[in-house]
Parts: sequence; structure tokens; C-alpha cells
Amino acid sequence: MNQIVLATNNEHKIREISFILRDLPLSILSKKDFSDFPDVEETGQTLEENAILKARAIFEATNIISIADDSGLEVAALGGRPGVNSARYAGPGCSFEDNNRKLLKEMEGVPESQREALFRCVIAISFRPDDVELVEGRVTGKITTEIRGLQGFGYDPVFFLPFYNKTFAELPPEEKNRISHRAIAINKARELLIKRLNLRVQNE
Ligand code: IMP
Repeated sequence: MNQIVLATNNEHKIREISFILRDLPLSILSKKDFSDFPDVEETGQTLEENAILKARAIFEATNIISIADDSGLEVAALGGRPGVNSARYAGPGCSFEDNNRKLLKEMEGVPESQREALFRCVIAISFRPDDVELVEGRVTGKITTEIRGLQGFGYDPVFFLPFYNKTFAELPPEEKNRISHRAIAINKARELLIKRLNLRVQNE
């Protein structure tokens, strides 16, 4: 059976990716399966650079097809910020709430029509160090003027989806996980793995 390794320590992401790939004949490994697994610093200037950096480093350490992701929120009125700096927008060690408050402050006075935002998730799959493919998932929405909702994490309480008339933090988690930028990217990664590894979906 083909092996793949997930270049993340985040248990939630490991579960989400494993669930979407569950009917493929793949053995899915992660950090816990290795005695020596590098922690790769996200030093890239873009989501793409970070995803490639991580996937390639983990391939080089394990010699196994590696999957890495990087996500962020891009706000048009802020020239694409926080973008690749989404996690640490309000400074080193900041909380999700610090980031949301900073974002709402920066968006003060921006009219409704100019509050568009984009969640983007980029996944890199390293089949070899010189053979890395990228897929991307996007969800568009608008930045609210106040924090709304208790579910989810990160910028979910300030990301409003006009179609649902709710923020990500007001949607049931199963629904968010079905439509999120990450789910879209993981599903594209799934299609790519099926094609590149010539996999047969099980129990069809
Ligand atoms: P990561 O690359 O998936 O770890 O995401 C980096 C940062 O982007 C997180 O710390 C969050 O601030 C933000 N982010 C990514 N995905 C989401 C999401 O689904 N909801 C809210 N914030 C997110």
C-alpha cells in the first residue's frame, strides 16, 4: 500500500485530512510514527512557499510522499493582509481574539461594499523533492464589524458568508468543515493522489 506522511503536528488537521482520504488505499503517517521528525519553520513570504517548504522538508526527512498545508485570511481593503501572517497578525504570542480585534480596528470605517475577504488554503504534495504539486481551496466572504458566533477558531467570528447569512463561527462545525477552504483543498489533493498514484477508491 502507498504511504503518505502529513507534515503537521495539528491533531485536528490530521483527523480532517484522514477522514477525507479514508476510502483510499493509503497508509497515512504523521509525526508520531517517526523518531526524528523535523519541525519546519514557516519562513516563506507566501502560503505557497510555506506549503512547499514544509512538504519538501518532510519528504527529505522521511522519503515518503509528503502533504503540507498553509492557510490564511486575505482582506482586499488591507492589500491582502493578514495573509501569510494570519496566525501572528497582532504580534508574537497573540491570541485569536487579539487578531480579530486588530482586524476589526483596521477595518473601521471601511464601507460594506469594500469588506470582501478570502480564506485560502494551499496544499503542497511532494512526490519527490523536485516533484511538488500545489492545490488550493478558497472561500469568499465579508469582514463583519463585530465579533459574531462561538464556534470554530481563528478569524471564524469575523468572517461572514452572505449565502448563509452567518459567520463561520455561527455555522455548525460539521457544516463549516464541509465547505471550508481547507475541505476544498483536501478534496483537490485527494483527486490528485488518485490520479498520480493510480488509486482505486475502496467500497465503491
Ligand atoms: P494554518 O496555516 O492552517 O495553521 O492557519 C494559519 C492561521 O490562519 C490560523 O492561525 C488562523 O488565524 C487562520 N485560519 C486558517 N484557517 C482558518 C479557519 O478555518 N478559520 C479561521 N481562521 C483560520
